[in-house]
Amino acid sequence: MSSEEKSGKEQTIFGKEKNPSSVEPKKLTLDSHLKFRCHPGVRCFTACCGGIKIVLTPYDILTLAKRLEIPAHEFLEQYTMPTYLEKTDMPGVMIKLQEDDNKCPFVTPGGCTVYKDRPTACRYYPVGMADFHEGGTRDANGIELESAEEKFYFIVREDHCKGFEEDKEWTVREWRADQGVDIRDEMNRGWLRLVMRRKSFGLQASLSEQAKRMFFMASTDLATFRKFVFESSFLDIYEIDEETIKKIKKDDIELMFFSFKYLAATLFGADGLKIKPEKVKEKVIQMKKQQDEAVLKSVKEYEELKAETARARKATGVVEK
Ligand code: SF4
Ligand code: SF4
Repeated sequence: MSSEEKSGKEQTIFGKEKNPSSVEPKKLTLDSHLKFRCHPGVRCFTACCGGIKIVLTPYDILTLAKRLEIPAHEFLEQYTMPTYLEKTDMPGVMIKLQEDDNKCPFVTPGGCTVYKDRPTACRYYPVGMADFHEGGTRDANGIELESAEEKFYFIVREDHCKGFEEDKEWTVREWRADQGVDIRDEMNRGWLRLVMRRKSFGLQASLSEQAKRMFFMASTDLATFRKFVFESSFLDIYEIDEETIKKIKKDDIELMFFSFKYLAATLFGADGLKIKPEKVKEKVIQMKKQQDEAVLKSVKEYEELKAETARARKATGVVEK
């Protein structure tokens, strides 16, 4: 696998590469069948927990940090490393593999030590899902007018995975229910759509450093995002109803959904978060003042230049006609 190729687990969460050899070229539905079983008795047990890239979603970070009973920033420092999401300029994190054996820090010979809270990519594998807007109609500013949403499933079949030799048969729906992925789909949807929307823009219009920092903070460290909302001028600027304020103060999941809404509005101009009218007015006045000052400065500079030119002409004896 070249460093540019996605690992099997990465493909299950972000969709498949164009023509990867490990992805079966067949679109599946929830009623499609697959023969697969993963259990401690398979020859390859834990083979898929090393030498891989496991990108973490905001919900993965939230649940893993809670499980390990450490704050998100500590979890990020100890167990993750930075990455860019889906070959965009959006910063995210992936699990930091152990230096000595290149394995996930949560794997032991007995299996995954965080199994109940394992990341999304580990749950989906080997059934990937493509559930995002591809194409669609956008206006001149790139704002989506019409969605071209498509949802289908696909199998990632890697040589090392012997689970396909097992006898157990499921529908995709049954497999997904067994892995408890529905809640993950719901939790990750807003974030995945931000990444896919960014990807569909291409890299011509790059995000500012400030926008990247905000995206990273809001999607990896909710405690810091909460501080930003409640301890900055945020609530003076945005129109947020009391009910929402109450919810996001206490509830991490509500705050996470709110962060997706905030990012969609600030990064892509999506609806959902309004700036208070008086702040818009203030901004317009400030911009007008800046514009007036710039015009006055230019006029003054021009007058000075004209006077300077006249003085120079006079000094050299050139007479104005
Ligand atoms: S989190 Fe668990 S399932 Fe996922 S790679 Fe690590 S050990 Fe394997
Ligand atoms: S059967 Fe596949 S998913 Fe299960 S441990 Fe082996 S490689 Fe991993």
